[in-house]
Amino acid sequence: MSTCCSINNKKEKVLTPGNCPTCQAKGKKVGLITLFQLIKRPFQKEINRSSQYYFCSSKECEVVYFSNQNNDFLFKKEHLIVKVGQKESTPKQVCYCFDYTHQDILEEVQKTGKSTATQIITQNIKEGLCACEMRNPQGSCCLGNVKEAENQATEKCKK
Ligand SMILES: [Zn+2]
Repeated sequence: MSTCCSINNKKEKVLTPGNCPTCQAKGKKVGLITLFQLIKRPFQKEINRSSQYYFCSSKECEVVYFSNQNNDFLFKKEHLIVKVGQKESTPKQVCYCFDYTHQDILEEVQKTGKSTATQIITQNIKEGLCACEMRNPQGSCCLGNVKEAENQATEKCKK
């Protein structure tokens, strides 16, 4: 078979706006309010107010926020005032508004056979008591992550 130039072209690294420049994973859009609330003050001046930022949730990746535009600063774990649960082994924070870690959820399932986290968090959200946009590094509600942590805990306790 003859060599084809299109094969080589495919190998070129394309820096798409929504993909992490370090690990290439697809990021999640975050608003400026999340960056301003969670980035340490000395680095807040690096935030470009006209850029769309994305959150990288890959465990092994140091990058937290990126835009891939205008040579914007790359915000890494060290630039945040909180630890990013998705990027830690322990304690793995899962809900930032009401302070749940993976360990908290696991311990409750071990003790009582079930987790009340989703129920309690859902109730608090209904009453307007959450602030995910400002407290959670992913800039959005934690419930999906909490449910995942509950399923993992339930699985672990079955064994
Ligand atoms: Zn990444």
